[in-house]
Amino acid sequence: MGWAHSPTVYKIKPSQQVSIGKLFDRASNRVNMEYPEFPDDAGYTSIRDVLSGKSGKSVKIRGWIYRTRSSGKLAFVVVRDSTGVIQCTVSRDKVAESDFDGASKALIESSVILEGEPVKDDRAPGGWEIRASKFEVFHFAETFPITKDQSDEHLLNNRHLWLRSRNMVSALKIRSTVFKAFRDYWTNLDFTEIQSPSFTTSACEGGSTLFNVSYDDENEKSGQKFYAHLSQSWQLYAEATMFGLENIFTLAPSFRAEKSRTRRHLTEFWHGEVESAWLHNHQMMELEEGMIVHILEEVLSSNRAELEVLGRDASILENIKAPFDKMKYEDVLGKLNSMGFDLGWGDDFGYKEEKALTQELKSPLYITNFPREKGFYHRPDPNDPKSLVCHDLLAPEGYGEIIGGGERVWSPDELIERIKEEGLEPESYGWYLDIRKFGSVPHSGFGLGIDRVVSWICGSEHIKHVIPFPRTMRRTTP
Ligand code: ATP
Ligand code: MN
Repeated sequence: MGWAHSPTVYKIKPSQQVSIGKLFDRASNRVNMEYPEFPDDAGYTSIRDVLSGKSGKSVKIRGWIYRTRSSGKLAFVVVRDSTGVIQCTVSRDKVAESDFDGASKALIESSVILEGEPVKDDRAPGGWEIRASKFEVFHFAETFPITKDQSDEHLLNNRHLWLRSRNMVSALKIRSTVFKAFRDYWTNLDFTEIQSPSFTTSACEGGSTLFNVSYDDENEKSGQKFYAHLSQSWQLYAEATMFGLENIFTLAPSFRAEKSRTRRHLTEFWHGEVESAWLHNHQMMELEEGMIVHILEEVLSSNRAELEVLGRDASILENIKAPFDKMKYEDVLGKLNSMGFDLGWGDDFGYKEEKALTQELKSPLYITNFPREKGFYHRPDPNDPKSLVCHDLLAPEGYGEIIGGGERVWSPDELIERIKEEGLEPESYGWYLDIRKFGSVPHSGFGLGIDRVVSWICGSEHIKHVIPFPRTMRRTTP
């Protein structure tokens, strides 16, 4: 039903443009349904095109009222669409009486369709205004519950409406570019995109952040509850899939019951993960650098306007070049301790530590050679067995970790030893051990927190500002 209503025009070739509605009717071989209230869907100009000065003498615009004020004779209605905002002046003497009535009465977020002449005017936001000759209020909005200067909590409770804000729209456009750039980069390197399950029974990132899901339909009778977990990472599945495809990636949600309430933790986040056969840690690090630079280039070429709306200085992003600086965990410990921390070998870096470390940086920073307690699947460094052949990548300006990755233990014997060393039971890793028994090879992989990357690129105060419906320990609604 949504399809037939939708006025959107497919961008195929200009000569072939057809409305989705017509396509739908054609495809399903139906009689063309008529929607008497629905305006003809041809000939509209986007606000971006009007603001660029390239539109004709008379334009048709449709969108929503962003701001409005009126006097007895003149209504100033700022209208937004997905591409920008523009001021429209509706003058009592220039339009039909009912049009002027509508324009002066309609509250913000009313949907409108208007026609008029674009005029250059330096006083108007964006340098252009439209002098309306027709102004139709398509749907009168009720009083919008969001006004200026409202609390974060209010905006989160009204997220379904706050998604219309310019900040959200800008962040979501940048987010879309980041997703596309991630996919393009790995696809161009001939990596295959693969999906892994979200219901699992194995943990790879530690039990404390596991979500349990009751999964016990049949077992209910026996009185024995059975739980599955929500996936924290695709990694164990990736390693199995890799033996067939060699070079793979995914883009999927991961779930972590994060007790830590920081500006960078969600309970459901989007995870870009990569796994590659025959590849060593340092080679993977080089590919990752290339990926970050590619993502930045794509955002800089597609989203200048959005960065500006968000108040983000693009030159900071422009100046980021590979290769990124690298420090060993041990040296980072020293540095942090010299800044007043009191950390010993084996201690984890949390948000506080990473913030201090990266606050003054202009470019991302790799930390390598973490202590071997960090995870059983990371490969201990053959030259320095107390540390691992692995890395984290930290974003600058206080953002901290955006990537965790490294080389995996590939030898089956060594893996069993490592699992025991961590106090875990090799039996519970049955199939994961199995994949090592048939022609194992060195391999590396990583996980990138896409939301964290978007948050950093946007210069956001909190990760929840860059995902449409954020999920945290305290929020699963709207
Ligand atoms: P942190 O120490 O910051 O909690 P982590 O070390 O647990 O992260 P990894 O297991 O290395 O994270 O996961 C790979 C990447 O996934 C991280 O570098 C980060 O970018 C992202 N990530 C992990 N947990 C979260 C989360 N709760 N919310 C958003 N992104 C996350
Ligand atoms: Mn990590």
